[in-house]
Amino acid sequence: MSVPSDQAHTGSCLCKKVTFRTTGPDINCAVCHCTNCRRNNGSTYTVKAWFPDKRFEFTGGEDLLKQHDDSDTNTGGVVNRWFCSHCGSPILTRSYRVPGIAIVNVGLFDEAWDWRIDFEQWRQSRMSFIEDFPGVSDASKYDDFPHKCEFERVMARL
Ligand SMILES: [Zn+2]
Ligand SMILES: [Zn+2]
Repeated sequence: MSVPSDQAHTGSCLCKKVTFRTTGPDINCAVCHCTNCRRNNGSTYTVKAWFPDKRFEFTGGEDLLKQHDDSDTNTGGVVNRWFCSHCGSPILTRSYRVPGIAIVNVGLFDEAWDWRIDFEQWRQSRMSFIEDFPGVSDASKYDDFPHKCEFERVMARL
């Protein structure tokens, strides 16, 4: 989570054709080391912030969005991964586990934000050079997917 505020924040893909706005703080900020997130982002892990749909809106380029239904997942569930079809930037993810939540890649935001990581998942595939993230308690570090109490804690913030 970030510092609570009603402020709006904007972001975009690399070509800046897909733009969006969020309002207020994220309800969760999670690091994922899973191999699918790594391939989707082309990086060594992902950092994603969760916003309820009512506090996330596209402000441009929606016609360029493409959705990849990622069914080859560790859990067997289908995860929808949206990206800009013009520049290829991954934009957001939707998970069957948390309906109504836009899971947004933190790197897309226009300004620096004081992100606080709430939990880390799929540490079993974490790359060896990645050290622990400050502020994440041992109870919120998961070798695979988080315990359901983690989701209950997050959804209680809605
Ligand atoms: Zn783009
Ligand atoms: Zn992942």
